[in-house]
Amino acid sequence: MTDAPDIPVRVRPEIAALPAYRQGRQAGAEAFKLSSNENPYAPLPGVQEAVAAAVEFNRYPDATATALRERLAARFGRTVDEVHVGAGSVSILAQLVQAVSGPGDEIIYAWRSFEAYPWLAVVAGATAVTVPLTDGARHDLDAMAAAVTPRTRAIIVCSPNNPTGPVVRHDDFDAFVRAVPSDVLVILDEAYAEFVTDPDAVDGLRVLGGEEFPNVVVLRTFSKAFGLAGLRVGYAIGHPRILDAARSTTIPLSVTAAAEAAALASLDAEDELLARVREIAERRDRLADGLREAGWDVPQAQGNFVWLPTGAESLAVAAAFDAAGLIVRPFDGDGIRISVGEHESVAKVLEIAASVVRDLP
Ligand code: PMP
Repeated sequence: MTDAPDIPVRVRPEIAALPAYRQGRQAGAEAFKLSSNENPYAPLPGVQEAVAAAVEFNRYPDATATALRERLAARFGRTVDEVHVGAGSVSILAQLVQAVSGPGDEIIYAWRSFEAYPWLAVVAGATAVTVPLTDGARHDLDAMAAAVTPRTRAIIVCSPNNPTGPVVRHDDFDAFVRAVPSDVLVILDEAYAEFVTDPDAVDGLRVLGGEEFPNVVVLRTFSKAFGLAGLRVGYAIGHPRILDAARSTTIPLSVTAAAEAAALASLDAEDELLARVREIAERRDRLADGLREAGWDVPQAQGNFVWLPTGAESLAVAAAFDAAGLIVRPFDGDGIRISVGEHESVAKVLEIAASVVRDLP
């Protein structure tokens, strides 16, 4: 919100009422920034060199990121028109929601989940329908299917769920999609897919392999596992008709040449980057186990973050972490999310979490 004097230009009231995007606080030199689910590793030198070599700053980028789409299509055994690239997967989410919904339409998603979902629905002018998570902080897919009405246009399923951590199981997702009308778009948001180690977890690309579910679109990103959050590049895989519609809502040329070059170079170095991902997943498991041993009720953690259900104490607990140089993300009244960061941060998180749990009522 600004203090500038009001002017008569009419802004849509629902847009004027939106809160500003809340970003994890930047860390000072002494602190660990564990508030935005970022990758703690710096980009590989080869990726940085590829960006420097590929980008002509005075030229526009390729509007549909053809080279990257071709590469992803080959990587996942799809056709090029089944792949869409956007400036981060959040921008593709916005495109998909806008492509299928407007005023009077409903978008279903679990809550609590990714904070952008309510915002996307408002911007599209659609109505958000939220379905509470289960006790284990999982999606309640039966309740989500039961929430479908003739006005439902899209359902967003987040696996692993940000910020709570559990995955949706493959069999459950399969049954869920069969229960949902085929004219409803199902968006499977797999921003953290590469960190998943649960063999029963849904894998969107396996679901799509059967060509049975043309209404499912899978979203992935280079921001998390591949460490390119600052460059903004993500992708969707799904039916060409849905992706064409999403593309029609796109602000042209929003994927930069630097982002495309970095994504291509990251795919060249995929083995090395996925070895880092395995290390982060092991670190996550150590962190979650340690927190459970300290008495915390941590739900299944399958992303690059863990969830502490701190309820009414969330802001106070986050402040205790903050004072110790650990910047975490509180969700007022609900819990705090701690990203899996540098190796050295794990012992520190465990130390503070153990002291906090003793002080909780
Ligand atoms: N989906 C989920 C569940 C996320 O947590 C995030 C990032 N926090 C995104 C999508 C968007 O990621 P990006 O736009 O960087 O690809």
